[in-house]
Amino acid sequence: MAQTFSMTINGRAHQAEQMMDVVNPATGDVFAQAPRATQADLDAAVAAAQQAFPKWRAVPYEERAALMLKAGDAILANAEELTELFTAEQGRPLTLAKEEILGAGMWFKGMAQFSMPAEVVEDTDERRVEVHREPIGVVCGIVPWNFPVLLASWKMSHALLAGNTMVLKPSPYTPLTSLRVGQILNKVLPEGVLNVISGGDELGPMMTAHPGFAKISFTGSTATGKRIMEAAAKDLKRITLELGGNDACIVLPDVNVDEVAQKLFMGAFFNTAQVCVATKRLYIHDSIYDELKEKLHGLAQVMKVGNGAEADSIFGPLQNKPQFERVKAMMAGAKDRGLTLLEGGPVPDRGYFLPLTLVDNPPEDDPVVVEEAFGPLLPLLRYSDVDEVIERANNSEYGLAGAVWSSDIDKAMAVAKRLDTGTVWINQNLQTTPNTPLGGHKHSGIGVENGRDGLMEFTQPKTIFIPKV
Ligand code: NAD
Repeated sequence: MAQTFSMTINGRAHQAEQMMDVVNPATGDVFAQAPRATQADLDAAVAAAQQAFPKWRAVPYEERAALMLKAGDAILANAEELTELFTAEQGRPLTLAKEEILGAGMWFKGMAQFSMPAEVVEDTDERRVEVHREPIGVVCGIVPWNFPVLLASWKMSHALLAGNTMVLKPSPYTPLTSLRVGQILNKVLPEGVLNVISGGDELGPMMTAHPGFAKISFTGSTATGKRIMEAAAKDLKRITLELGGNDACIVLPDVNVDEVAQKLFMGAFFNTAQVCVATKRLYIHDSIYDELKEKLHGLAQVMKVGNGAEADSIFGPLQNKPQFERVKAMMAGAKDRGLTLLEGGPVPDRGYFLPLTLVDNPPEDDPVVVEEAFGPLLPLLRYSDVDEVIERANNSEYGLAGAVWSSDIDKAMAVAKRLDTGTVWINQNLQTTPNTPLGGHKHSGIGVENGRDGLMEFTQPKTIFIPKV
């Protein structure tokens, strides 16, 4: 019989009248049931968060920070159980899944290192002026399926540390680990501070329309981000939007191809290429193009794609059926247009698996270059001039992240400075830390998460003028 999970509202387990199926993407089989929240469940969660807010904001900052450390430890202490559940619902192989769970625990602890003292902006004989940081209210957290636990931990740690309360909603495709995290954290946090609910496609819009929320923190696609901004406008909810990307990685001619090939490969295909900041366009200098292409194709042929529960799998399935069908159709379209696809090794025929696939120098305006595939389909693009490749890299509606590879850091830095993105990595990929703001330029988002800047987005400034005479 399928395992059944419950939501957490006001510190207690809460069942919905209806349940929804959760599928293991490695098999395509339903293996669990998650609650499908109704408007009444949502109202109850928002009411609990509203009721908890005055008490939680009054808890001294240092005590909230200490509770964030405990919250991080609680996740770390349950890492084994959470990892298995994560792999079953998300598909990522166990070792890499565990990194996400540990990352989530470490994030709570990392954010707790920040302090938030009032800033004294003027101190004269006449007066003192202080800027205090106040919480905003009840935060609505909406998360996608590609990094369900880590991205939820970013939102929860920021919002709660700053004194807000929260209702968190995972993706309908990956609700379970977040529901369990909600139960685990509620053993540490006061009731009502963190409420975790799950539901179908209807729940997200119900949340963004709910007048009880003061802020929406959203991670997901650009199309949904635009809908959320529209919904938020009605009652001026604050928003942070972490959206899609089509990240360019530029490989300069002076790299050691043998040394960089595997790192470049993982930067594109980690999590079966379902990463917002993955390399999605790989620009390779003409002089090393053929050599690097061969190496990357060789890697695609030997890296094991399989059920994440099998110890030797490095890449899992696409996370859900619509995404699987979408990327499969993109691959078929590329073939139909006469592009050269370099396919990786065999993949299981059950579940949502696709081979790791490279596209050999497609035209710059082809859909495989212009669109975010969010799956294992990577265009390799030849270039010969640095100015030209920077222009091509920036010629995108997205501006999330990018990378430059070179044996000369100064040369790489000169390119990095000219990329219109929120993050640039030099000779590395996919690095994020609690200390460093992550956010997108252009259609990749509004605002940032992480770092002091990220924390500040969950606060509002209050200026106090204090007379001295
Ligand atoms: P999605 O936009 O379809 O869904 C994300 C979440 O929003 C889900 O929980 C979904 O249920 C909810 N949702 C859907 N429609 C909604 C609506 N109208 N109102 C409110 N909520 C709604 O995205 P996805 O397919 O789950 O995730 C993939 C996308 O997320 C990719 O584009 C990826 O680049 C992006 N992403 C961005 C970041 C980042 O930090 N910038 C991180 C991870 C993923």
